[in-house]
Amino acid sequence: MAYSYDESNIFAKIIRGEIPNQTVLETEHCLAFNDIAPQAPVHVLVIPKGPYVNWDHFVAEASAEEIADFARATRAVIEKLGLEPGSGGQGYRLIMNSGEAGVQEVPHFHAHILSGRVLGRMLPKD
Ligand code: 5GP
Repeated sequence: MAYSYDESNIFAKIIRGEIPNQTVLETEHCLAFNDIAPQAPVHVLVIPKGPYVNWDHFVAEASAEEIADFARATRAVIEKLGLEPGSGGQGYRLIMNSGEAGVQEVPHFHAHILSGRVLGRMLPKD
């Protein structure tokens, strides 16, 4: 499978510093920042700095170090915001939209961390 990455996407511009962001956390390989249009009181996006389109691209082609850093950065945001349900936090929802069916708008792989209220059903009933 050949993945094609669009260098002009908005998150690529954020990584290059061309567009400002509200950074929550930064690691060697990842950046976490507040979503510009939050859908819950807590809405943080975690992105790898590398050029990956979506989850399957990331897992197929990122190094083990990048994948571990992404997993740990995501956890570090959860810890920083005090969301861990096992430690008295409220809990959270982790979402990674991919492609058309997933309704992915920005073609740079990202995870949404949502919390701050009870989020309701995972998907609305159609
Ligand atoms: P997707 O639908 O691709 O999973 O989610 C893309 C997310 O990126 C949306 O929640 C949207 O609000 C957010 N977003 C789009 N443009 C910007 C931006 O310029 N800055 C930030 N911080 N978030 C953005």
